[in-house]
Amino acid sequence: MDLVTALERVVPADRVLDDPDVVESYLQDHAEWAEYGQAVAVVRPRATEEVRAVVAFAAEHRVPIVPRGAGTGLSGGANAVDGCILLSLEAMNAVLEINDDERLAVVRPGVVNDDLRAACAARGLWYPPDPASAPWSTIGGNVATNAGGLCCVKYGVTRDYVLALEVVTGRGDVVRLGRRTAKGVAGYDLCGLMVGSEGTLGVITEITVRLRPKRAPERTIAGYFDSMVAAGEAVRAVSGSGVVPSALELVDRHCLEAVDAWKNMGLSTEANVVLLARSDTPGEDEAETILRCFRESGATWAALSADEQEAEALFDARRLAYPALERLGLVLTEDVCVPRAQVPEMLARIEKTAATHDTLIANIAHAGDGNLHPLLITPIGDEDARRRAQAAFEDIIADALELGGTVTGEHGVGLLKRGGLRREVSGPVLDLHRAIKNALDPLGILNPGKIFV
Ligand SMILES: Cc1cc2nc3c(=O)[nH]c(=O)nc-3n(C[C@H](O)[C@H](O)[C@H](O)COP(=O)(O)OP(=O)(O)OC[C@H]3O[C@@H](n4cnc5c(N)ncnc54)[C@H](O)[C@@H]3O)c2cc1C
Repeated sequence: MDLVTALERVVPADRVLDDPDVVESYLQDHAEWAEYGQAVAVVRPRATEEVRAVVAFAAEHRVPIVPRGAGTGLSGGANAVDGCILLSLEAMNAVLEINDDERLAVVRPGVVNDDLRAACAARGLWYPPDPASAPWSTIGGNVATNAGGLCCVKYGVTRDYVLALEVVTGRGDVVRLGRRTAKGVAGYDLCGLMVGSEGTLGVITEITVRLRPKRAPERTIAGYFDSMVAAGEAVRAVSGSGVVPSALELVDRHCLEAVDAWKNMGLSTEANVVLLARSDTPGEDEAETILRCFRESGATWAALSADEQEAEALFDARRLAYPALERLGLVLTEDVCVPRAQVPEMLARIEKTAATHDTLIANIAHAGDGNLHPLLITPIGDEDARRRAQAAFEDIIADALELGGTVTGEHGVGLLKRGGLRREVSGPVLDLHRAIKNALDPLGILNPGKIFV
């Protein structure tokens, strides 16, 4: 019996997709440079029991499983490996509970981030983690990558909101990790271990997240800068001033022009670099401090936005930068994170790297976190440009590590940063990773070859 027929005996047949065109559309995430293999089938379970049955089947037949949310990942984490089952959690998309008293929500992994945020907002509650992919990415994918986002500079990343998980391990066990209470220290933090594990330790089938009360309206402060270094100095100044903006994003001229060419939003391209900050602390003081930091760091223009629509358009441009640049060529996305004080130096080094390797590098950044996304763009089919961009990518990683940073702030290791991880952590630490993997996935069937080999 072939594998697909056998699979159709363990889950309802309509969950199994093997039409080649359909399977093809699931093979890759958004990391255009990462390799991918061929899958046997896509399975779209509707319940935890179906996930468990697929994992047990895979264990019995020694078939790799690649869990997948919406496929918006930027490291190749959800890319197919040869002969795998692509386990798409997108149909498990129910919001099971929103609890006002406990201020928590319980969701299935396929719930789209923006849908959870909207459901919470309707109850006067707020789920903060807001990756720029929020209209598409799933909470399961966000947890598996420990996604960050725009407001994380003040409110933290996905990890800070995960209270409990239901997970199917590589042994085929359905386990519940974590708790619903505000505090709790019973046993190792296995729930925390799952956050950011990129589908290599278990398949997440239910998630309990912490919520916050709806926050005060935000005010936007925009600053234009002639150079990346001046913008970096402004980030350092804000960070050193003692205020905590609710967003501090950087977007450069390449991105603004690409978004404008695509969406015709009438964006001003007077600036080489734009910093966008937000303040949600009541009163004027915080916004005024940020404005002063921008001006004192050499902004050519800076203002508190009087027009929220105009401010929102600038944030939309920030969110649309990545898909807009994808229209210009192949995009290799960097994700280094450096100490905030090193942001000006890191931005200067990125500019130098672009010149050294003759590579077009556009920049967006969660600048307030020191999390930079240099986007290396190469014309499709230009192998020489690709080699130069790869060399630039390696230099950026080396510079970030030299400045005390990390190779990935939020996108995860996946395939693209495996070499970077080896440079960042010691041999004994990699051994600890392997020991944990062996304990939870002794047959090595869960997303093999991702994070480390
Ligand atoms: C335009 C754009 C903007 C982006 N902005 C941000 C941003 O601001 N911040 C940020 O952090 N990221 C950002 N990303 C990257 C991406 O959106 C995030 O990594 C996101 O969390 C991935 O979610 P997903 O549902 O698409 O997961 P996928 O890409 O499908 O999967 C990501 C990883 O999680 C694993 N996985 C998925 N679901 C499960 C599950 N249920 N159980 C176990 N493992 C699972 C996969 O195996 C894979 O390793 C952006 C991407 C794009 C395209």
